[in-house]
Amino acid sequence: MLDIADDHTRGHESLLGDLRRLVRHTAALDEDGSFPSQDIARLAAIGALTAPFGTNDAAGIAIGAPDELAEVLRLIGHGGLPLGRLYEGHVNAAALILRYGTRDQVLRARTQAAAGALFGVWNTEGSDGVRLMREGGALRLVGSKTFASGAGHVACPLITARDVDGAWRMVLPQLDDAARADLSDWRAHGMRASATGSFRFTGLTVAPEDLLGGAGDYHRQPHFSAGAWRFCAVQLGGIERLVDEAKDFLRAGGRHEDPHQLARMGETLIAAETARLWVGSAARLAEAAGVADTPEAAERAIAYVNLARSAVERCGLETLERVQRSVGLAGFLRPNPLERVSRDLATYLRQPAPDRALCAGGAYAFRDEAAGDLWR
Ligand SMILES: Cc1cc2nc3c(=O)[nH]c(=O)nc-3n(C[C@H](O)[C@H](O)[C@H](O)COP(=O)(O)OP(=O)(O)OC[C@H]3O[C@@H](n4cnc5c(N)ncnc54)[C@H](O)[C@@H]3O)c2cc1C
Repeated sequence: MLDIADDHTRGHESLLGDLRRLVRHTAALDEDGSFPSQDIARLAAIGALTAPFGTNDAAGIAIGAPDELAEVLRLIGHGGLPLGRLYEGHVNAAALILRYGTRDQVLRARTQAAAGALFGVWNTEGSDGVRLMREGGALRLVGSKTFASGAGHVACPLITARDVDGAWRMVLPQLDDAARADLSDWRAHGMRASATGSFRFTGLTVAPEDLLGGAGDYHRQPHFSAGAWRFCAVQLGGIERLVDEAKDFLRAGGRHEDPHQLARMGETLIAAETARLWVGSAARLAEAAGVADTPEAAERAIAYVNLARSAVERCGLETLERVQRSVGLAGFLRPNPLERVSRDLATYLRQPAPDRALCAGGAYAFRDEAAGDLWR
């Protein structure tokens, strides 16, 4: 892994300032097949696509500390959850490339990001999952990915593929044709603009330098499970956006001084702030576990992030319920932004295996430690 910490000096504040301005004007896209190309281009223009890859350039911006990354993800999620999901995928790919990539792979990725390329991580697949075929010295892909955000738009996906021995490998395929993407099944309740479709890889050749890391690295802990804090940070942005939209609506209608509305707004703020506290702690524990590199720190962080996932989901659902009750039918009518943001949040709260995550977090309680000492 390359050390990027040395030049993480300039620019974080300026990146946040630029982001704050940018996310006030994100496109409110909601149609099937839509994609926030302009917003991605604007993220590229302020250096937000290169920042997760670190920098060797004194003029560049690197996002290093977990609090900084959490803030970036939260802000972009507030601007738009589909954009937040896409950017989170970009950040996830960057983290894997920095962790497992060779120097050349990191430099190549950085150059691609600097040219405006969006990355993503495509792991989910159906029965026709992606396999890596080895024929003589040649490598070739067969199969498809499903639920691939930005399919047809992401220039540089990082995908998982089964090797001939059954092991999972990471591949950075060089895409030849965006027409391999199929968005016809993405007729979703929300998150329509995330272009989350399937992508057919059959026939693509893979160069040895396109293989990232070793067998099993993609699922290596604590990064695989604890990295989930990043989608929680984007969800948090969506939760806070919902609260802001509700506030504006109530104030505009002169309903903001009614005691019932105030009580419900109080409960809504508690939910949003609870989510924020969980996300902040999860980000710090997860990143600290990566640095400490001990089994104890890994176990602690994974348990905490698993619980954070449930906590943020619950806060999101509570916020949805209270905002819908406070605003009423108007919040279900287009083009009220509450209608779209509610659907986007409800959809993006659906993440893999929530029951398993909660139970794994709960199992951590049964140690020889008092509950209050588990994460201290
Ligand atoms: C907007 C959006 C964008 C996405 N983009 C990407 C992407 O770019 N790349 C990517 O790889 N993926 C992506 N995904 C897919 C994502 O990673 C998950 O696969 C998906 O969100 C899982 O949701 P699910 O509700 O179907 O989960 P599931 O895990 O199927 O959960 C549904 C329910 O089933 C339960 N359950 C799960 N497993 C079992 C079991 N074995 N037995 C019994 N019950 C079970 C769960 O606890 C839950 O109650 C995206 C998803 C969304 C919503």
